[in-house]
Amino acid sequence: MKKDRTKQIKGIKIRTLNLLMILTSCILYILLLWATVYALRNYDRMVSATEDADDCQKNAFLVSEGSDYLTEQVRLFVVTMDRQYMENYFQEIHITRRRDTALENLQTYDISSETYNYLVTALERSNELMQTEIYSMKLVSAAKGYETEGFPDLTKTELTLEDAALSPDEMIQKAQDMVFGTDYQNFKKTISANVTNFLDQIVVDARQKQQNRTLDLHQTMRTQQILISLLFIENILFFILIIRLIINPLQIYISNIKNEKMLEITGSYEFKYLALTYNNIFELNAAHALTLRHQAEHDPLTGIMNRGAFEHLREIFQTHPEPIVLLIIDVDKFKLVNDGYGHETGDAVLKKVAALLETSFRSTDYIARIGGDEFAVIVTNAAPDIPGVITKKISALNQTLMHPDDNLPQVSLSVGGALSKCGFADDLYKKADTALYEVKEHGRCGCRFYES
Ligand code: GH3
Ligand code: MG
Repeated sequence: MKKDRTKQIKGIKIRTLNLLMILTSCILYILLLWATVYALRNYDRMVSATEDADDCQKNAFLVSEGSDYLTEQVRLFVVTMDRQYMENYFQEIHITRRRDTALENLQTYDISSETYNYLVTALERSNELMQTEIYSMKLVSAAKGYETEGFPDLTKTELTLEDAALSPDEMIQKAQDMVFGTDYQNFKKTISANVTNFLDQIVVDARQKQQNRTLDLHQTMRTQQILISLLFIENILFFILIIRLIINPLQIYISNIKNEKMLEITGSYEFKYLALTYNNIFELNAAHALTLRHQAEHDPLTGIMNRGAFEHLREIFQTHPEPIVLLIIDVDKFKLVNDGYGHETGDAVLKKVAALLETSFRSTDYIARIGGDEFAVIVTNAAPDIPGVITKKISALNQTLMHPDDNLPQVSLSVGGALSKCGFADDLYKKADTALYEVKEHGRCGCRFYES
């Protein structure tokens, strides 16, 4: 029975709930961690995109600066004819290499090929310009008769026959025209325009990248917000479930246990199981207590109340505010029954008397076996005509007992009664006993009420 009952229990197990909450919390925390790392990475990428754009600009300036430096040195050389400027020029081309280094640096950045091409074109133009510049320096060197051994670029460069035939002054004039002329200026403008285009494009590219990174960062932070909200909801849900499944049932159970009540089947599976087990024990205990109480208060032979219960009733009825009647009933010459028919027959007679008394009186009256063959009846709510009624009842009882329709021997009852107007008075028992004595004295088998 118990086994079947516990099998019927349905409900969430605290253990399962706990595991579920740990699992979801772990997943949410891992996702949140991932989102935070991702957000930081996006932020770094955003910062590095800005830094890259700055570096690209610096490097683009270096290309422009390198080209301008060469122009400056060649111009100074053709004007002053100071060899130092020529040395500076070739030092820039072969050693300092500002333009080439800048271009190499720029290749390491994530620049679109379209943007990068502007700079390559600028460099190509710059290199083309270099040929003009070197030629102009060759002219000046030839005009001034400078040694060109240390400068392979100059050694490699051959003057045209026409230019070789020029006078030194004409050569110098031509060299100056070459590096200050309109063609030269136009070439310089082309280089400058390409560098400007490159710089503009770099700014556009950087803005686009920043925009993309900002969008990524925004999305990651949104994900973080959602995850934090989910964690919050999960926590609230967990608290609600704890209250419903654990705290509420605990409070109910404590109150029920205090009030000695059965437990309500509520809360988690474990609490329901606990309540069911407790209720089973509670029912068993209650039944056991009832049996013990019944045994303590009832006569095992006749099943009616015993002397102890009668004494208890006597105490209770002492303060009873209504009139009551006490009857003391004794089986006449009972010893003879025992002696003549045996103890077992005597027991059967006692049972029969008890059963007859129970059927003769009202359910509101109390019948007890207070001695071997002695019984007592407390008649409650006694009306003024009660002695007459009781006398008739006893007479009828004696008639039944004197004419048995079973195999039991004939017996009769002597009954002494006493009336109290208010509860079980102290001398009520004595009065009823006196009346009984009188019945015994006057031939037994009858009923008398005490009269003062
Ligand atoms: P009286 O008319 O004067 O009452 O005479 P009596 O023989 O009935 O005398 P008394 O009431 O004193 O005797 C009661 C007897 O009841 C004495 C005892 O042996 C017997 N008795 C007491 N308890 C039991 C019991 O449980 N079963 C049986 N069979 N007899 C009992
Ligand atoms: Mg007797």
